[in-house]
Amino acid sequence: MTKQLLFTLLLVATPVAAQTRRDLRVAVTFDDLPAVAVARCEPRALNARLLESLKRNKMPAVALVVTGPGRCGGDQLNSIVDMWLDAGHDVGSHTRSHRDFNNMTLSAFTADVDAAHERLSQILGRRGKRLEYFRHPMLHAGDTPAKHQGPLEPL
Ligand SMILES: [Zn+2]
Repeated sequence: MTKQLLFTLLLVATPVAAQTRRDLRVAVTFDDLPAVAVARCEPRALNARLLESLKRNKMPAVALVVTGPGRCGGDQLNSIVDMWLDAGHDVGSHTRSHRDFNNMTLSAFTADVDAAHERLSQILGRRGKRLEYFRHPMLHAGDTPAKHQGPLEPL
């Protein structure tokens, strides 16, 4: 009787588990590349550790890159983006300056996005890839309807 009950429960539970497994999808992303300096600026070592962990866990990811100068690793942007692409991951834009859209004009933000798009498109274009991902800094997608519905074209 107990075996039959267990068998019946497994039959009922299996489709639910399969359904749940099929619907579970997670996108893993990393913002603010090439790097954020916490104590020291070590962009190559930081990215190498991230990529090794992703490889060990067989986990695809998207790195969202800030392309402007003056940031930790900004002088190594091309080679760090290449590290991610060589490892089979995707790369997206996180603007040029990482400024808060809510504190900028629409035209200033658009220029910032366009500058990052141009830089990343050059790097990706060398490999026959195109820019497909974008994330607003601080996830601020505009504090007014005009900004929120602004002329940012889909990548
Ligand atoms: Zn960010």
